[in-house]
Amino acid sequence: MDISEIREKIEKILQEAKEQVSAGNPELNEQLKSKYLGRKGELSQIMRSIGQLDYHLRPEVGKLANYAKQKLEEIFSTAGKVRKPIERRFDPTLPGRSLPVGGMHPLKRVLRESIEIFVSMGFSVVGGPEIETDYYNFDALNTPEDHPARDIQDTFYIKKPEWLLRTQTSPVQIRVMESQSPPVKIIAPGRCYRKDAIDATHYYAFTQIEGLYVDRDVTLADLKGILTGYGKKIIGEDTEIRFRPHFFPFTEPSVEYDFSCPSCHGTGCRICKGSGWFEISGAGMVSPKVLRTVGYDPNVFQGYAWGMGVERITMVKYGIEDIRLLFENDLAFLEQF
Ligand SMILES: [Zn+2]
Repeated sequence: MDISEIREKIEKILQEAKEQVSAGNPELNEQLKSKYLGRKGELSQIMRSIGQLDYHLRPEVGKLANYAKQKLEEIFSTAGKVRKPIERRFDPTLPGRSLPVGGMHPLKRVLRESIEIFVSMGFSVVGGPEIETDYYNFDALNTPEDHPARDIQDTFYIKKPEWLLRTQTSPVQIRVMESQSPPVKIIAPGRCYRKDAIDATHYYAFTQIEGLYVDRDVTLADLKGILTGYGKKIIGEDTEIRFRPHFFPFTEPSVEYDFSCPSCHGTGCRICKGSGWFEISGAGMVSPKVLRTVGYDPNVFQGYAWGMGVERITMVKYGIEDIRLLFENDLAFLEQF
């Protein structure tokens, strides 16, 4: 070997050592160290060959070899100091990381369940505009000009007279009856607005489901059957219904209906404030005046109609005492459902 060959060989050793050394693998580094620096290592072989070289070349090769030894030691000691990256090994015995799964808002859930129940009873679902006219919201429903519900204190008027935010979904019933002949068997779910002061039982917006069935030989007993069936499905099998006489301009006779308290089943407890019942909403037989307004002959057709607040049903079903909880988006509250 001549001097240039030796120099090349040393450069090659240094280059390889640099490339092969691995910060995260001390075992490999030990192997490399003995491969290059060990007694039988590549550098030792060069050192040993010095004796066979020409006398005048020996000092220079010796210097090169020492330089290489120093460099190699540097390479291996630096590799040892580099922090080993944390090894992320897959551990199949650990429990999986669960992702939070969203749930349906209780109000939405009761709305959907209610729609399903009425659809299963043969009702079709219809919608209508939330911005209504005086005519559809009041006049067509036999609500006279001086009725308190028409007061600016109770209704959000957009432009008085005429445009307002509907206070009930009944306008949808009128629109449907105007556009088709009996039989009509519909529910109209949707948002309604009333200028109520907000408290535990009132809110400025609420979700209503109104039902209407117009056909031959429809009776109040049919209405009671439908509402009883609904109450048993949505609140519980042992739910009872109670009709109390009432007055509404668009039904005759009119009733208010109550469901029995799901906690005490009518005997009275703290939740129902001792009464055993929860007032739900109004219902009745569609007024002949309303039927005539839409062009139906009240001597041939009868109909029943009812309303219900989905918020109210949700509160009775889950024992919620404050309606505001349904609108505040408090996760601690909502996660209980
Ligand atoms: Zn009770």
